[in-house]
Amino acid sequence: MSDKRKVIHGVPISSGIVLGTAHVVMPGDFRIVDSPVPATRVNREIAALEDAVEKTIAELSEMRKVAVRKIGGPVAKIFDAQLLIAGDYEFLQKVKNEIRSRKRTAASVYNKLVRNATNPLKNSPDHYLRQMAIDIEAVASRVLSHLIGNSVSKDTHLAPNTIVVGRAFTPNDVMAYRELKAVGFIVSRGGADSHMALIARSLMVPVIQTEQCCKIIPNGSRLIADGTTGDIIINPTPEEWSEYQRRRKRLGPTMIARIRRLPKIPPVTRDGKEMGIGANLSLPGPADDILAERQIPVGLYRTEFLYMAGNKFPDEETQYRTYLRIAEKFAPAPVVLRTFDLGYDKLGNGADWLHEDNPALGWRGIRAMLDMSQVFKTQVRAMLRASVQKNIKIMLPMITDLWEVERAKKYIAQVKLKLRRDGIPYDPGIQVGIMIEVPAAAMTADTLAKKVDFISIGTNDLTQYTMAADRTNNRVNNLYSPFHPAVLHLVALTVEACKKNNIPVSICGELAGDVLAIPLFIGMGVDLLSMSPSRIVDACRMINKVDSTLVRHLVTSVVSSGSLQAAINRLKDYKAAFEQRK
Ligand code: PEP
Ligand code: MG
Repeated sequence: MSDKRKVIHGVPISSGIVLGTAHVVMPGDFRIVDSPVPATRVNREIAALEDAVEKTIAELSEMRKVAVRKIGGPVAKIFDAQLLIAGDYEFLQKVKNEIRSRKRTAASVYNKLVRNATNPLKNSPDHYLRQMAIDIEAVASRVLSHLIGNSVSKDTHLAPNTIVVGRAFTPNDVMAYRELKAVGFIVSRGGADSHMALIARSLMVPVIQTEQCCKIIPNGSRLIADGTTGDIIINPTPEEWSEYQRRRKRLGPTMIARIRRLPKIPPVTRDGKEMGIGANLSLPGPADDILAERQIPVGLYRTEFLYMAGNKFPDEETQYRTYLRIAEKFAPAPVVLRTFDLGYDKLGNGADWLHEDNPALGWRGIRAMLDMSQVFKTQVRAMLRASVQKNIKIMLPMITDLWEVERAKKYIAQVKLKLRRDGIPYDPGIQVGIMIEVPAAAMTADTLAKKVDFISIGTNDLTQYTMAADRTNNRVNNLYSPFHPAVLHLVALTVEACKKNNIPVSICGELAGDVLAIPLFIGMGVDLLSMSPSRIVDACRMINKVDSTLVRHLVTSVVSSGSLQAAINRLKDYKAAFEQRK
């Protein structure tokens, strides 16, 4: 391993400084330990193996079909070879026998026997045998990913201060690695608004994105990663190490202390107008206590992370306890609970969720929940039961058309009726709102606003759907910008519709905490900005500096600018002029 010093400038995704050791995770590199299982679980392990093999064969057959259609016969042969490997009867019998005799997990036995088979092939002078090893490993990583549910095995452990470096991680991976006490992430894929980034930010784990990180960063090297600037130093000098240690000390507790010292919540503009500020939460995070103490509302609680934590829908009691805890902690400040916003894109491979080729345009959010009405009603029942503090609000994600609102409200009414009949208390005045994340919803916001108690604009998804640019795909991240006038136009339309219908409007996408966008939102008349806790202090400082009467013209100017660059230039000019004024 080279110990040459090298500096890389990546894209900052989640702020904070970490110093540690690189743990490079290559695709298909599963860290599986040889863990024993009780005799009573042996049959379950064998059934899981059979299931994983079946799923792999189905996937490979599908890929073969696509290959034949798009590329032709010769490429399909690769899949023929892999299909033979996946279904190899003798090999699978060997794995099953060893699971029975050694009482080990299916994943660990399968992994071990695959390694035994491929190691001699990998070193063979024969090109054909070396290629065979590659094919076997490709099949094995599919089987293993089905077996262990996601790409991180829960049985592993990491050395203290590990910084995980890899191609791409799902939110589940981030959570699993956090449980193993990983301190930060360097990734080559997944933009600033990807779900992985959101979860990392809510957990306050630094993340930097840089192309080719798995190739550039040697496994086991010492690393400094600054998630605020995007700087990565591989094998830093002792002086740099001490300097960054000092900087990190200043940063961590400082954020909590800075929230504590904020003069007034909600913050006021220069001309004395209050601007609501809220926090986006999902899992318990380090800033929760101070947020609750300062009575900062929870503008978005992403409940789907409850699903991700256990890879299944949590039961009513688990949900009830979670929602009640957060409602009690923040009361009387409002807590907006969003119903499960799940889809194949949030779960990634391995979850028991139908594969979709185009998941962002597929079965997610309220679409999935209305089809799984029992899951939806169970969640609503838990939310209603937890609403006795009268500070819970229910929010529906990914609304596209009015009928979805009507159907969801019908289900909510049915749950309320049942609770009443059962004599279980809940807040009868509980507010139900929706998220505007789809252009169709933004353009019909006037109709939707008449049916709901509040609206919150999710600029992360609104951007990807307006710009036709996947929020997690770096190749199109020059197009994925919430500052595009088309996106801002839809935001302005939605705010106007809410004002006209006298309902409160908030923004809960990441743009809400962007200091460049805040004057614009004040100008539009947005009531509340809800953001990752780490952005609250800077956002409040910005609000304090803006004069609400002077930013109205900014909205017209930015929204009518014809291009992304023109919109950004206008906002930057405004910020520069206003900084000069100080
Ligand atoms: C959004 O789309 O802006 C949003 C807040 O929802 P999520 O990021 O969870 O999709
Ligand atoms: Mg969204």
